[in-house]
Amino acid sequence: MVDIAALARLGGVRKYGTDEMFFHFGDPGHEMFIILKGHVGVYINSLDGSPLQVAALKDGDFFGEMSLLENMPRSATISALEDTVCLVIDESNFEQVIAQQPSLAFRIMKGMSNRLRQQNEELSFLKQGSKPEEDGAVAGAASTSAPVPLSSDIYPPGHKSYPLSATSAHDIYLFDSETLCPVCDKKFPVKMVRSSKLRLDKIDPDLRQHFHDFEPLWYAAWICPHCYYTNFNFEFKQVSDALIKKIIEQGQELKSKVKVDFSSPRRIDEVFTSYYMILQTLQAGKVEPTKSAKIWLRLSWLYSDVEDEEMFNYTSEKALEAYSESYFNTRRNTSVEQDQRLTILLGELCLRVNQKEEALKHFRNSIVRKGGNNNLNRQAEDRIHDLRIALSEENT
Ligand SMILES: [Zn+2]
Repeated sequence: MVDIAALARLGGVRKYGTDEMFFHFGDPGHEMFIILKGHVGVYINSLDGSPLQVAALKDGDFFGEMSLLENMPRSATISALEDTVCLVIDESNFEQVIAQQPSLAFRIMKGMSNRLRQQNEELSFLKQGSKPEEDGAVAGAASTSAPVPLSSDIYPPGHKSYPLSATSAHDIYLFDSETLCPVCDKKFPVKMVRSSKLRLDKIDPDLRQHFHDFEPLWYAAWICPHCYYTNFNFEFKQVSDALIKKIIEQGQELKSKVKVDFSSPRRIDEVFTSYYMILQTLQAGKVEPTKSAKIWLRLSWLYSDVEDEEMFNYTSEKALEAYSESYFNTRRNTSVEQDQRLTILLGELCLRVNQKEEALKHFRNSIVRKGGNNNLNRQAEDRIHDLRIALSEENT
């Protein structure tokens, strides 16, 4: 047993309020945390870009040790599910903590060795798993995505204005906070989502998550009102120094084209604008298909909510294009389950644009017997069953 009271006496105790962030996926960091009291949620970015809770940690659990010991960037996003008190360990007090609590060193080592074993197993499954023929030749090749074509403003042709606003039911899932813009270094107010309050109602076949009385997609983008830098909130701090100058230049130009204030309650037109602004930000650098895919997929969901079929089809095609490029041409560092989700999503997007044979291939590829997620396997099997019937009817 780890003696929590003794550890707390070593100092470095920090308090976090409900929904407060410890760190985001990809952040640099040199501290690990031991939970003295409370609960935290562990989130990874799901395919559509929204945070997906994969675990909850409680009193006595620890996290962040990879960053402390190996200077690795954070592998997940962590936020408090309730008021939480943590002991923060960094290089300055690490030895002291271990000297006082040798059992803790043993637990950290055990945790790391489990993680390594899991990674090795995932790697070997990935190697065994069948891959489409197209794969292999160009792993790691540079992205060939062309910049998003834009007319005089930031919206694609066919985009309209839609009379939809957020309901007051959204309010209890939100709270006001402030963030520091990593581009211009100025603070601005933001709406944060109380992830601890979200209740998942259902997940669509294309893996869209529906929450009770709330749509996180409406609040996923943050726009700095000073420099117009826009990004998903969970990736907001991830901007390279090389891009900062370009984003500032671009912002000057954007200021003459778009108005970026969010109303209260928020209007869906503003939400659309925020997503197209992220696409603008992307163009300051090399457009990563993985990132533009996330945006197009979310846009397609939003267009389905406003029942704009033409734009739903357009954005579905863009999402399929970007996810396919990401799937075939980009080196991925993902788990078996994440890979399954990606192939299922590709199958669903092919269905949307009526490419049944392609869809069938992706659903077949998504089935992983050993180490795969059984719900995903079943979902793919159902689709394969229906597709076989549909295809044989077409051929007769
Ligand atoms: Zn800014």
